[in-house]
Amino acid sequence: TSYGFRQVGAGEKQPLVNEVFHKVANRYDLMNDLMSAGMHRIWKDAMIAWLNPPKRPGWKGLDVAGGTGDIAFRIIEASRRNAHETVLDINGSMLQVGRERAEKKGLSPYLDFVEANAEELPFADSTFDAYTIAFGIRNVPRIDVALSEAFRVLKPGGRFLCLEFSDVDMPLLDRFYEAWSFNAIPKIGEMVTGDGEPYAYLVESIRKFPDQKNFAEMISSAGFERVSFRNYSGGIAALHSGWKL
Ligand code: SAM
Repeated sequence: TSYGFRQVGAGEKQPLVNEVFHKVANRYDLMNDLMSAGMHRIWKDAMIAWLNPPKRPGWKGLDVAGGTGDIAFRIIEASRRNAHETVLDINGSMLQVGRERAEKKGLSPYLDFVEANAEELPFADSTFDAYTIAFGIRNVPRIDVALSEAFRVLKPGGRFLCLEFSDVDMPLLDRFYEAWSFNAIPKIGEMVTGDGEPYAYLVESIRKFPDQKNFAEMISSAGFERVSFRNYSGGIAALHSGWKL
């Protein structure tokens, strides 16, 4: 099977994204492992190592597009169960899976779940010590708006960290990754959920996302300082960091 790409306008994008994650919520964690061949775990661990949350109470993090909770759970564990995390997602189905997982892990006391849009965060200015977003920002229709919101809700001295698929900078890996994205990912999606088309759309959203340098510039434009990034797996994923100073 080959999948054609729909051209998606800005206004149409969010409903399509919502449909994908609503359909896949129950199998999202399995899909993540299959589609990234388990690599998302390594990238997420590296993200939390760079964040290095303090092992003292009172520190508050916000994980946007937090889905089923992977990033928030890791942050709480890394803080030795001192941190408090708010998991925010636009999709109630993803959050519901997250709540159930948190309960099983005994992490519910350290967590809040909030259904809201990254473009319009329901929090006061200067609320959080850190803002994290993993594999989420490319789904948001107006990235610049999401970045300004991130800046607004962070305390002065707060940290912004974003993990996202990015531009592969190694010639051979580059081709392998293209083949994997265009063939394997929609097929895995079809096998697990019965529909490959939404995954073709997600792959397309990765291709349209700005490369490492351009995204770093967008982060700076939102007001962040000391903006830098690290590549993982040859740039398949990149982690961007910035500070509200
Ligand atoms: N962060 C999790 C992880 O790394 O496993 C989940 C990532 S998942 C690929 C993307 C998530 O972004 C979905 O749960 C989706 O509902 C959420 N999302 C999409 N658009 C959003 C928006 N405008 N505001 C908040 N969350 C959004």
